[in-house]
Amino acid sequence: MIEQIEGINIAVEGCFHGNFDEIFGTIREIEKQKKIKIDLLLVCGDVQTHRNKHDMFNMACPIKYLSMGTFYKYYEGKEAAPCLTIFIGGNHEASNYLREMYFGGWVAPNIYYLGDSNVIQIKKGNTTFRLGGTSGIFKIFDFNNPKLEPFPFKSEQLRNVYHTKQIDLFKLSLYEGEVNMFLSHDWPQQIHQHGSTKELLKKKQNFEADIKSGRLGSQPHKFTLERLQPDFWFAAHMHVKFEALVKHKTGRQTKFLALDKCIAGRDFIQVFTYTKDKKDLYEQYAYNEEPIELFYDSEWLSIVHTTYKLLTIWDKIPKLFEYNPVLKELQIMKKDKYEEFLNEKRERMKIFGNHQLKIPHNFEVTTPPYDEQDNTIKGLVPPKRIPLNNQMKSYLNLFNESGQELNGLIFYEPDQPRVIGEFVAPDFLQKQIELENQKEILQQQDLKQQQLEEPSSPKDDELNIQDFPFLQ
Ligand code: 5GP
Ligand code: MN
Repeated sequence: MIEQIEGINIAVEGCFHGNFDEIFGTIREIEKQKKIKIDLLLVCGDVQTHRNKHDMFNMACPIKYLSMGTFYKYYEGKEAAPCLTIFIGGNHEASNYLREMYFGGWVAPNIYYLGDSNVIQIKKGNTTFRLGGTSGIFKIFDFNNPKLEPFPFKSEQLRNVYHTKQIDLFKLSLYEGEVNMFLSHDWPQQIHQHGSTKELLKKKQNFEADIKSGRLGSQPHKFTLERLQPDFWFAAHMHVKFEALVKHKTGRQTKFLALDKCIAGRDFIQVFTYTKDKKDLYEQYAYNEEPIELFYDSEWLSIVHTTYKLLTIWDKIPKLFEYNPVLKELQIMKKDKYEEFLNEKRERMKIFGNHQLKIPHNFEVTTPPYDEQDNTIKGLVPPKRIPLNNQMKSYLNLFNESGQELNGLIFYEPDQPRVIGEFVAPDFLQKQIELENQKEILQQQDLKQQQLEEPSSPKDDELNIQDFPFLQ
């Protein structure tokens, strides 16, 4: 008799790059071939959740790669994700949209952004696990900076916004519970030592210098890997499949898997089944059909509340970590302060207790989605006001916080004091907007002239998105 497996069928994907239709198509194809239902898709960044043109220009990326992608169809509900999809951010994102969801949130129905760092619980039938993750990539010069990239981003802030910041690492460092799976975009530093470096170098010769100098990957992720010791760690960014097994001093083990980006024929997807007794199975699937549900993790909520004050003091945030050049690792700066935070967190955990708080399905469309028929430049102009996202509002309500302290940081209400001056578009965008504005004015003048001459002439004055040189 075939043993009935109870568990969660999981697909993990490397870099997404806006290919929603393609990757969701691949999921449907796998389901058809294997006659299974994928319960959960985990995505390791570079997702590109552009709702419209304005979001697209809030992504840092070479001009030739700027493209709308297909996310907007899922945002407005014309298309639906085939399964629950959870992702972290990489270095190519609609960073304005993700900043609205700093603590995590639904970017579209069934598509959940885990936030800049987070731990949540996932449950299907009798199978549960804790999923952690952190977004962005590590650049040492930005690590100690506050999350001070208020809307609308200035051009250089398009990059700063996705650089790993110490506050998000600090939050993870306060987590003492068991984390089963963890998502990051770049790799933990030195992870190659736990797998076949030789094989890796065969595929990626250009990693040699970074491997030799010990600089391949992220220092903060190494710290988190050693602290949390999750059962699984999934990553992307390097555009190569790589497996490793980390044996921790405590006896725990972490299975590390990095996947490629979504290109036909490349290793960008991995399917496995996570069982109720915490095994990972390959080519054996679960057929139990209970719904999959997300819950807040009470320890994480306690951490968020305990560290909230560090977010709101912005530029006065103290240095929380230092680099020890002998041990070649990050260390927490002030042990006594850290202990205070730990104790406060433990106290708060008593308040949240063991209540299972479901993550609500409170997605709302909050901005006009991309309109394929609208070829004007309208969508390029930054909105004058970005209210606190309804999902963030209800999240902060869990702590009786209004979010007003975060004004200018997370959202922008113009009647409130702001930190930076007026919007300055990235240089290329600035020029483009001017150019397009001029074009539009000229075309409107032309049209008026035409209408005067032949009042019934068809309306054909609008720009086609294909005319934008940087989209080709
Ligand atoms: P992205 O898609 O994020 O723009 O680009 C990632 C690319 O940068 C990949 O091709 C990856 O191999 C490369 N890359 C990312 N991090 C490193 C690193 O630390 N060292 C080296 N040599 N290449 C890297
Ligand atoms: Mn990347």
